[in-house]
Amino acid sequence: MNELESLKAENENLRKVNAIKSDLISISAHQLRTSLSALKWMLKMFADKDLGNLTGEQDEFIQKALESNERMIALVNKLLTLNHTDDAEIEFEFKKVNVLDLLEQTIFEFYGETNKKGIELIFLKPYTEIPDVSCDREMTRVVFQNLIENAIKYSREGDKIFVSIKANEQENKVEISVRDTGIGIKDGDKEKIFNKFFRADNAIAKDHIGSGLGLFTTKNIIEHQKGKIWFESTEGQGTTFFVSLPSA
Ligand code: ADP
Repeated sequence: MNELESLKAENENLRKVNAIKSDLISISAHQLRTSLSALKWMLKMFADKDLGNLTGEQDEFIQKALESNERMIALVNKLLTLNHTDDAEIEFEFKKVNVLDLLEQTIFEFYGETNKKGIELIFLKPYTEIPDVSCDREMTRVVFQNLIENAIKYSREGDKIFVSIKANEQENKVEISVRDTGIGIKDGDKEKIFNKFFRADNAIAKDHIGSGLGLFTTKNIIEHQKGKIWFESTEGQGTTFFVSLPSA
């Protein structure tokens, strides 16, 4: 086989592996959607009082669970589509979003996990006003979730995570950063970090379950919303991810 032929064969191989992975993701996402739908049906039975009356507080919690469940179903649907299109040909619902609120809400959902893992999650609240951003609220929530989730996954007990948000008035942007004092990223891995399925060796050693899809998806979402994402990292010392989104 000459060089061109072996390159072609290699390319074909990669295409096949990629297609298999893509199918696996679809299958898992579909399974997830089935379970979420079953959960929705059960929660609805409670909410509709088919299983007897609820106290006010129970009803309030069931409503919250239902909303969260609906949100997950909508997200799985969107991510399923995103998995099939590298150029993210999916419907984004652009609205004026208060990203400070969204960020605070997202952080709040992680406190249980960080407490359990002995990691400190700190929100550095801004002193100045933060303008709204024109974006899809739920997709932007995925971005914040992915970055905070990674910061937690790649931190050790006793590490700290700082989340901050500020307005860049000159450039009409809002900037968010998630800084951790975790395992960091090797110089040689930095250019591959946003590649589909890429996982660095130190990340695999720390947490062997992962898809290498989080950052790929995150970058896709950010760029679809005319934003930017970048990072700084020192191996063994920590990583900061920055996201900027245009103000509405
Ligand atoms: P996953 O976390 O499922 O492996 P991601 O696409 O979210 O996939 O991240 C890709 C890779 O980028 C990770 O496997 C890890 O090597 C690196 N990475 C991402 N975030 C961090 C972080 N905060 N600290 C260190 N490495 C990180």
